[in-house]
Order: sequence, then C-alpha cells, then structure tokens
Amino acid sequence: MKAEIISVGTELLLGELADTNTSFIAGQLAMLGIDLHHASLVGDNRERLLAALRQARQRADLIITTGGLGPTQDDITREAIAGLLEEEPAVDPALKQDLIDYFARRGIEMPENNIRQAVLIPSAVGLPNLRGTAPGWWAEKEGKVIVALPGPPPELQAMWQREVYPRLEKMSSAVIISRTIKTWGVGEAKVDEMTAPVLSAKNPTVGIYSKQDGIHLRITAKAAEKETARKMIARPEAEIRRILGDNIWGTDEETLEGILGQLLIKKGLTLAVAESFTGGLLSYTFASAPESERFFRGGIILGGGEARTAFGLKSPPLAGRASDGITAKMASIARTELGADIGFGIDGYAEPSVDISTGKIFVAIDAGKSSQSVTHNYSGRPHQIVRRAVQSALFDLYRVLR
Ligand code: ATP
Ligand code: MG
Repeated sequence: MKAEIISVGTELLLGELADTNTSFIAGQLAMLGIDLHHASLVGDNRERLLAALRQARQRADLIITTGGLGPTQDDITREAIAGLLEEEPAVDPALKQDLIDYFARRGIEMPENNIRQAVLIPSAVGLPNLRGTAPGWWAEKEGKVIVALPGPPPELQAMWQREVYPRLEKMSSAVIISRTIKTWGVGEAKVDEMTAPVLSAKNPTVGIYSKQDGIHLRITAKAAEKETARKMIARPEAEIRRILGDNIWGTDEETLEGILGQLLIKKGLTLAVAESFTGGLLSYTFASAPESERFFRGGIILGGGEARTAFGLKSPPLAGRASDGITAKMASIARTELGADIGFGIDGYAEPSVDISTGKIFVAIDAGKSSQSVTHNYSGRPHQIVRRAVQSALFDLYRVLR
C-alpha cells in the first residue's frame, strides 16, 4: 500500500509553523509497513488543495490530510475532499448532536459557524475527536482511502491512535520491525566502512545514525508477519555484533547510564562522582538513571579556585598539560568522602573556539584497591563537548565494569 500525506495550512508555508504532524504520521506509517512516497504542504486554498489531492489520488492508495478542519471560512479540507470525490457535503445529524453536546459540557452555546464541522459526504464516516470539536473523516471510494485529520497535534494524535491506526493495521499486509544497536568509540565513517557488507541489503535495511550517545545502527525488516520480520533481523545483527564487538554497549531504548546502573546494582557496588569541566552533568546523568538511589551515592562538582583547594587539588588542567594525577585524586576523594565502592573523576579542558573546539578529557576510576586513568583527545562543536565528555566517561566506566 502506497501512502501520501498532505499538510494543509498557510502558516506552514510561511515558515511560522513546523510540520510535526507529517513527521508523526510518517513514523507511524513506517511502523505499519505502509510505504510513504510523497508528503507535501499546501496553503489554505481550496483549488490548490484540490489539485494536490487529485495528484495524490493518481499515485497513492491512501491519502492523509492534516489541518483545515476548523469551523472558519479558511478551513477548506472538507470542501476539497468533497470536490475530489464529486460528492455533496451535508450536515450529519449525529455529528451535529456530538458538537452540541461538546459545547453543552462546557456550558456554552454552539457558535453558528461550528455547524460546518458536522458535515459529511456519502463516502465518508466521521472520526470522533476526543480533544476538540472537529471530527475527522475516513472516506473510501474506488479502492482509495482518504483520511482527514485535524491540525492540532494532540487532537490528531489521539484520533490517530484510537481511530486510524487500528483501521490501517487491518489493511496493511506488512509489518516493519526495527532494532537499534548502539556503539561508542568508532566514528560514523569508520562504522560505515566496517559494516559495508550489511549496508547494501534491501530487506532488512541497515541505517547508520550519529547520535549524542554514539553511532547507532538501525536494522529494519519488513515482512508479512512480526515473527518473520524478527527472524530476518537476527542475521545482520549477529554480523554487526561480530564486526563492532566491544564498541557495542546497548540496544533500542537502552541508555549507558541505565546499563551502568543495572551493572552496579547486580554487582552490589555503589558509585560517587567528582567532576569539574562537566559542571554536574555527569552526576545529573547518574541521578536520573532508573533506580539511581540504589547505586549512586552523589557527586562533588568543582569549579576553579577555592573549591579545588579545599579538596587539596591544584588548579584546573591547562591546554597542553597532562592531568598530573589530579583526576585520580578526584576519584579517590569522591570514593572516600561520599562512602562509595567506586570513585569516578572527570576533568578536562577545551581550547576556546566558536566553531570546532579541541581539547582533552581526563577520566579516573578508583575502586580502592585498584585504579585506572584514561585520557581522550576530542574535537567537536562547543555546545556538544560537555555531553560528549560525559558519554565518553560513561563508556570508560562501562568498559571497566564489564
Ligand atoms: P482548528 O479547529 O484549530 O482550526 P484545523 O484542523 O483547522 O484546526 P489548522 O487550522 O490547520 O487545523 O491548524 C490549527 C493549529 O494546529 C495550528 O495553528 C497549529 O498549531 C497546529 N497545526 C496545524 N497543522 C500542523 C502541522 N502540520 N504540524 C504541527 N502542527 C500543526
Ligand atoms: Mg483551522
């Protein structure tokens, strides 16, 4: 089944509004295994919308419109669909009653204009709108389906989940299943080069995405049955695991801090942090992990100057210098001061730059009897650096704990 989305609204064409409805619907169609071949934006103009609908009907089996279902003169989606199907819109008594009830519940009389929202054409049924006044339309004619949804995202999404998704699920002959494999420590181009043999496949497909927490590989399989699609994913996944091995840290919805937390809990260990450079983000990251109260003892956040001297530390590292064991000391202070099994220290510096910054990150892990220190060089956009430092430190800890 081929689908096409048409977003209606002059605001969209003026750049005043981002078309998030299309992204939402596109993601949903992908999950349903429905191919989306075109998506377009049209202003609040009946003739142009009609032209877009005509073109869409020639190349798609399913057309989904968003917006233009309001009660005012510039809400023209219903009229345009009626024009396309050459049918006469008429007030539907049940939809009219729904509207009257909607306003009555709010203690207001229905404005005259809203009656426009109660019309239907013979080929369409109304889709109830639990969050607003405009019912959607589900129209079927000559083997093609046209779905009209309201513009406001909460209304559209509620209607989608309750009314549209179940109907499309019945119609679609395919399901799509994806699996995301998350890596750290290998750049995007290198991952691309290493996994070249699995990248060329058509089904399942493998896509590479650069994210905050590393490079993700997403395997997507399309099949008639969920089970078949799941089986199809297994082979490229095994291949990717063989190629990227220890650089893989997780899958799907997993986060590094979540995995670390579970590892620590399983080993019965607690963790404390001393951080400079990352300004509390490392502590925040652990604190917001699931069940953090079971493993995270807390963090000491250091700026420059006195705060450091109070802990007996020298001034922050400078460009071109090694950490001189400062980070190892920070890790040890965190462990002893906060009474944890493992102390985790991070420090670093960035060469100031507006474009691409370069610098060093020093990480130390102190487990009492043993300790380890790692230094990383990095480069990146200034606003990304602290986040990258945190992710990189998390991965260092993961490597040690694993
Ligand atoms: P209303 O009854 O509110 O007029 P409508 O179905 O006529 O609803 P529009 O008038 O086109 O929809 O849009 C109403 C509001 O919905 C917009 O101001 C905007 O906030 C949101 N909206 C509309 N289209 C989109 C879109 N494609 N993506 C995200 N938001 C949208
Ligand atoms: Mg409107």
